[in-house]
Amino acid sequence: MPGGTGVPNKRTAIIIGAGPAGLTAAYELLTRTDIIPVILEKSGDIGGISKTVNYKGNRMDMGPHRFFSKSDRVMEWWMKMMPLEKTEDNINISYQNKTREIPGGSAAGEDKSKMMLVIERLTRIYFLRRFFTYPIQLSIDTLAKLGAWRTTKIMFSYLRARLFPIKNEASLQDFLINRFGRELYLTFFKDYTEKVWGISCEKISAEWGAQRIKGVSISKAIQHAVKAIVNKTKKSEIGQKGTETSLIEQFLYPAMGAGQMWEEVARQVKEMGGQIYHYEDVQKIYATDNDITTVVTVNSESGLASSWKGDYFFSTMPVQELVAGMDSSKVPADVQEVAAGLMYRDFVNVGVLLKK
Ligand SMILES: Cc1cc2nc3c(=O)[nH]c(=O)nc-3n(C[C@H](O)[C@H](O)[C@H](O)COP(=O)(O)OP(=O)(O)OC[C@H]3O[C@@H](n4cnc5c(N)ncnc54)[C@H](O)[C@@H]3O)c2cc1C
Repeated sequence: MPGGTGVPNKRTAIIIGAGPAGLTAAYELLTRTDIIPVILEKSGDIGGISKTVNYKGNRMDMGPHRFFSKSDRVMEWWMKMMPLEKTEDNINISYQNKTREIPGGSAAGEDKSKMMLVIERLTRIYFLRRFFTYPIQLSIDTLAKLGAWRTTKIMFSYLRARLFPIKNEASLQDFLINRFGRELYLTFFKDYTEKVWGISCEKISAEWGAQRIKGVSISKAIQHAVKAIVNKTKKSEIGQKGTETSLIEQFLYPAMGAGQMWEEVARQVKEMGGQIYHYEDVQKIYATDNDITTVVTVNSESGLASSWKGDYFFSTMPVQELVAGMDSSKVPADVQEVAAGLMYRDFVNVGVLLKK
């Protein structure tokens, strides 16, 4: 119902964005309340940056999305949307020192293209004209690719870092050097991190590193390599109890790409009475006192502006644009300043089609 929202006699929630967060909010509202969600999505797609682009029948994700969570609730939610493929054995999903068994063969006879598959992750970085496993593993393969001279330098610099660590770990650079040695930091982590995040490792805090690269250390990498050999035949163990998130190699993945999950959620949302409007770009957010009352969109196809009233509002759009779209007299000056200064990164994804 563009240009005015609502479903007569029903409370409505205006949700900005049809990515995972917006769609999940809509689904939860429909299954747990009598509030009708109205999603305003500026693109023609479903799934936000978790979408799968379909180019002439070739599906490409916006990055290698893996479906692994330490939260029971999140795992169960995903598998409620898309059942796990038929497996020979029961599957053990383990995380946070808990293990859960999922009965194998529960989805027998159903269309496999609508299921979650058990996938082994293969992510590699191209460096020194060779492919290295990512996250970096201290394996024979890695060392062979680095060559004897570089490996020797890495070993010595690692020993040095262990014997004489940087006392006050202030930056991500300190954090990484203390765990990997300067040589390995310069070889692998510095350029990669700076390219991805757009900030020098010296300007990122050590706490951020601890959170992001938790558990990745040379000793953990060795443990992991040993475990990987031992567990090679135990394919059914996908939660990998005790394995740090950044080293997980198996995960659940929708057969037709990460975006399939969100297309399925969108389908169910619409089936239950939720509404999704595409090409509606939220540009203004109006409030009285502390309550948001209306948002105004401009339709990118027709150029027409519409205003949408609701009883509740959820935003998953970038915070910078959200705050900029609000009446500045209603937003504290420091909030405006922080929002305006937030940095966003562009992401270029290249899909290569091979004739095979
Ligand atoms: C390369 C890469 C790899 C990743 N790998 C993983 C992974 O392996 N596992 C994992 O769980 N996560 C992964 N993520 C993260 C995951 O993609 C995000 O956490 C998730 O998509 C966030 O969902 P969201 O709904 O909050 O936001 P988004 O996905 O950003 O969705 C926001 C939606 O809002 C819409 N929107 C924006 N502005 C407006 C506006 N003004 N009006 C209307 N609509 C608007 C957008 O078009 C979009 O559809 C990865 C991300 C990237 C980039």
